[in-house]
Amino acid sequence: MPPRRQLPGVDQLLRQDDFLRLVERHGRALVLQSVREGLARLRASGEAFDPAAFLVGCTQELEALAQPALRPVFNLTGTVLHTNLGRAWAAPEAVAAVAAVMAGAANLEYDLEAGRRGERDAHVEALLRRITGAEAATLVNNNAAAVLLTLAALAARREVIVSRGELIEIGGSFRMPDIMARAGCRLREVGTTNRTHARDYEEAIGPQTAALMRVHPSNYVVEGFSSVVDTATMASIAHAHALPMLEDLGAGSLVDLARWGLPHEPTPQEALAAGADLVTFSGDKLLGGPQAGLIVGRADLVARIRRHPLKRALRLDKMTLAALEATLRLYLDPDRLRDRLPVLRLLTRSAEDMAAAAGRLLPAMREALAAQYGTAFEVDSVACMSQIGSGSLPVDRLPGVALRVRRANSRAPSLVALSRRLRRLPVPVIARIHDEALLLDLRCLEPSDEARFTQQLAALAR
Ligand SMILES: *Cc1c(COP(=O)(O)O)cnc(C)c1O
Repeated sequence: MPPRRQLPGVDQLLRQDDFLRLVERHGRALVLQSVREGLARLRASGEAFDPAAFLVGCTQELEALAQPALRPVFNLTGTVLHTNLGRAWAAPEAVAAVAAVMAGAANLEYDLEAGRRGERDAHVEALLRRITGAEAATLVNNNAAAVLLTLAALAARREVIVSRGELIEIGGSFRMPDIMARAGCRLREVGTTNRTHARDYEEAIGPQTAALMRVHPSNYVVEGFSSVVDTATMASIAHAHALPMLEDLGAGSLVDLARWGLPHEPTPQEALAAGADLVTFSGDKLLGGPQAGLIVGRADLVARIRRHPLKRALRLDKMTLAALEATLRLYLDPDRLRDRLPVLRLLTRSAEDMAAAAGRLLPAMREALAAQYGTAFEVDSVACMSQIGSGSLPVDRLPGVALRVRRANSRAPSLVALSRRLRRLPVPVIARIHDEALLLDLRCLEPSDEARFTQQLAALAR
């Protein structure tokens, strides 16, 4: 008998309990499509119909389809502000604020006092003024957009003077010279890669100059024979020529991190106090909030930025504004900031704390690997160095602790294969391979998540 005769009909299959359960879970349309396509494949290949295998095939396909593409993972890479893994974690206060406004109406652009149209940035502007001492503030989608908009609004068709040592590229193709070109302004490079002096800026100023700009080098450092001009000196040169001085801080922490034993990062308030007219920085780096670009500084310049047509294209939505406002509110109480702001909590986590976590996690990790791989791998814990990430504080490393998995013999599966297996867990685990070992950096595995982590390790065996 030719194999195609053995194929059941679609309706016949969909009446069976197993398929009815799939309809219950995934909806009729998807199950119908999966069954039709499965049967078509069998018809084309001439393979015989195996009821059990067919059900498994449909179930797996539908489960894979039901899995969200964007979902939570365990970031055990050792890089806290990992751009590919979504940078800063939101504080619970920020999550609640987002949930409160997203499902219904909110006074996004409505002035409740006056009963008429209001300004979308107003909710966050007052807080930013209070925290940074700025006259005014405005907000856009990310810091790249903040730089683009600032330059487009203040320097289009004119020149912006930047040190050659600051013409940086940041991961994800943010290149300062390209942003300048897109903003329609001309880049006037001064100084050399390692040294730029005050006179370099002074000599470059001419009738075409629109602004002086200083860029935080973020993810690289120039060491040795080097010099840069500080914000105060650049601002006084700019002001002597009635020009604005712009500073792109990148990470822009809103508090002095040295208070918690971390390396000091320049803050917007310091830049403004030193004379910068506008400062731009990210919402989801050291600030610890949602992806956003913040522009703080002189009221007249902020007003020009707000009026630029690009502002409309780059504006924030109500969810981001709610998250940002709630995050900034945490800064009003610096004494409790460390406990409430996840980024700060993770960055200041002690190595002893992580060593204790390693002690709790090791047995489960050993057991799960043994269940699946026998004696192929050995697991212990080691001291390691984590990093802050997102272009902040590039040379500074944070002492931490990692679980270390090594191959016990040459027949053991490769570490690449093991890390792929870990990425396929229900909550994917992202680790790093270093020195013939798979390192699971524990800094970003908080005690409250340990149970969730160990429970799913059982799935390694499946
Ligand atoms: C990270 C960074 C940017 C880009 O910020 P996004 O918020 O990622 O768009 C721009 N400038 C500097 C100096 C940075 O460090």
